[in-house]
Amino acid sequence: MPELPEVETVSQGLQKLALGCRILAVEVRHPGVIVGSPERFATEVEGRTIVSVQRKGKALALELSSGNEPPRFLLVRLGMTGQFTVSARQTPLEPHTHVLLALGEREELRFRDVRRFGRIRSCTREELEAVFGRLGPDAQRVTEEQFLSAMRARRGAIKSWLMNQQLLAGLGNIYADESLFVAGIHPLAQPGRVSAPKGRRLFKAVRKVLEHAVKLQGTSFRDYVDIEGRPGNYEQRLRVYQRTGKPCRRCGRPIRRIVIAGRSSHFCPHCQPRPRQIARQKH
Ligand SMILES: [Zn+2]
Repeated sequence: MPELPEVETVSQGLQKLALGCRILAVEVRHPGVIVGSPERFATEVEGRTIVSVQRKGKALALELSSGNEPPRFLLVRLGMTGQFTVSARQTPLEPHTHVLLALGEREELRFRDVRRFGRIRSCTREELEAVFGRLGPDAQRVTEEQFLSAMRARRGAIKSWLMNQQLLAGLGNIYADESLFVAGIHPLAQPGRVSAPKGRRLFKAVRKVLEHAVKLQGTSFRDYVDIEGRPGNYEQRLRVYQRTGKPCRRCGRPIRRIVIAGRSSHFCPHCQPRPRQIARQKH
C-alpha cells in the first residue's frame, strides 16, 4: 500500500508533469472510484487548470482553478493499488484504468486501481480542510515536540500508534517497521513508557527513513509506480519489512515476524529488545 514516500513521489511527479495543465475532458470508466455522482464530478472538474499539488500523510489534493470562481480540489487516495500516471493519449489503456483526465490535447492523467480501494473526490476548500484536519501532523513535517507529546500516556503497541493516521499521518506497515528498527524499539513497546531519549531517536528515525525513501522514489510492493510508470527503488534498502528469517543487517540474527492488530510486524529481537512491560494484545 502506498505510504508517505510513494504518495510524495507521485506528488512531485504531478508537480513536474501536470502543473499548469488544463483538464479538457473527463472520462469515468468505473464510477465506483468516484465519491458522489460521476456526472457531477466531471462538470466540476472539466475546464479547470491544475495550479497546485498538496499532500498530507497519504492524501493528495490537486488544486483546480477556473478564472474568478472559488477553487476546487481533486482529493485522491491511492488506497492499496492505486496508480496515477501521465501518458500520451494514444498509449493503449491498461486494464483497470478507471478515470481519464485529458491534460491539454496530447496527454492524459490516468487513474488505475486493480483492487479499487482508491478514491477520487471533487471538493471545496472547506471540505478539503475538514479531511486534512482529521489527520494528525504529517510525518515528514511533524516537530519533535508534537511527536513526543503525541506519545505521552499512550498505552497500545507503538507499532499501531505509528500507523494511526489521526495521530501521525503518512506511515503504514513498511515505514513503521523500518523506523522502529532504526530506533531500536520493539513494536510492542508502549509509547507512553518509551524513554525521552528513545522517543527522540524514534522521531529522528521516522524522519530519516522517510527522507531516504522519498529520495529513492518509494518502495514497490503490489502495484505502486510513479507518475511516469516507474517502480520505486527503496526495496533493496529495507532492513526488516518482509525479511522474516533473513539475517539482521546489523547483528546477523534472524528477523522475526509477529502480528499486531491484524498486521504483520517485522523486527530483530536482538536489536529491538522486548521491554519489561509490553502492550497487551487484544485477541
Ligand atoms: Zn539485529
